[in-house]
Amino acid sequence: MKQKITKIMIGSIIVFTLVGCANKQTENILYSSEAITIMKEQEVYDTIKKKEYNKTVETFLEQKAFQKEYLEEYYQIDYVEEKDFTTRVNTLLDKSYKPEEINIIFKYLNEKNISKLLDMEYQNITEYVQIPNVEVDKIDRYNAYKEKENLDINTAVTYVNIGLDLEYYSQIQTIEDPSSYTVLLNKYRALPEDYVPDDLTSLSINPNMQLRKEAAEHYEQLQDAALLDNVRIIPFSAYRSKTYQTRLYNNYVNSDGLKNADTYSARPRHSEHELGLAIDVRSSVLLDNLTDNDYQWMQNNSYKYGFIIRYAKGTTPITGYIEEPWHLRYVGIDIATDVHEKNITYDEYYDLYLKETEKN
Ligand SMILES: [Zn+2]
Repeated sequence: MKQKITKIMIGSIIVFTLVGCANKQTENILYSSEAITIMKEQEVYDTIKKKEYNKTVETFLEQKAFQKEYLEEYYQIDYVEEKDFTTRVNTLLDKSYKPEEINIIFKYLNEKNISKLLDMEYQNITEYVQIPNVEVDKIDRYNAYKEKENLDINTAVTYVNIGLDLEYYSQIQTIEDPSSYTVLLNKYRALPEDYVPDDLTSLSINPNMQLRKEAAEHYEQLQDAALLDNVRIIPFSAYRSKTYQTRLYNNYVNSDGLKNADTYSARPRHSEHELGLAIDVRSSVLLDNLTDNDYQWMQNNSYKYGFIIRYAKGTTPITGYIEEPWHLRYVGIDIATDVHEKNITYDEYYDLYLKETEKN
């Protein structure tokens, strides 16, 4: 555009020098002839020619999307190279979005959010638009939860995205790609009814226990590394079929009541053990837990082998489960390392960094 302006300036100087005055008819030379034709048809030629060249205005004219009543707004809207730009801007203007709101919508929101917004009534998005994991159809829920729990806006967005403003096991979403190593399962996300991993492998140290092949290999490396540091850990639960998880959960409900059982046992289709990517480990001196020392070792080292401590100490309000220092989840070394560095739950991590790249 700069070049064009320079050209027209030089042009004007020449014209000025030659004829001694500026010819009003040449002031719109920067607009294409199609644009000028529409201007004349719409009777805005005289208005537009008094103003500086504007790419947005020209685009609306050329694409025959120009609506006279929005002329002032078009001048304030930054041109964006994207398909359906003019149709989308008109839709947003029809919904009473202001030009400055439209500019930040195109600047910050991803395609998914923009599409959703176009199908919704006007939303006040200003304070949410720059939050990377925002989902515009949840703005009412963000506002309500932020108020109710007195949360900062970023936390409210992440927590609501996880589902924490809802009852546990409500609005359950069935995940689409259960064989992904990074899949997120929790009280709002379930496995498809019939999922069975296709590469379950017995652990060499205990043939009764299985994990998916890659997780099994990495677990054995983890256990060997621990032993070198004199940390003796023993697995006590690995892959569970849906039938097994159902029986286990029902037994807990029968003996302890539904409410209590839900704090420490996942309902069928919601357990990471059904993924073949989770393993419970104990210290050799304890029945079903890790000593503080062994837990410390696990916190400092498990990520190097691709495992995270999924229900770490202090995470109950987010995971909805009691602390389970013994429950390791395989997600692969890169992701485990990143989760370890960011020091957040996998529920939060998934919402912030993975959901856009995953199919589910
Ligand atoms: Zn477990």
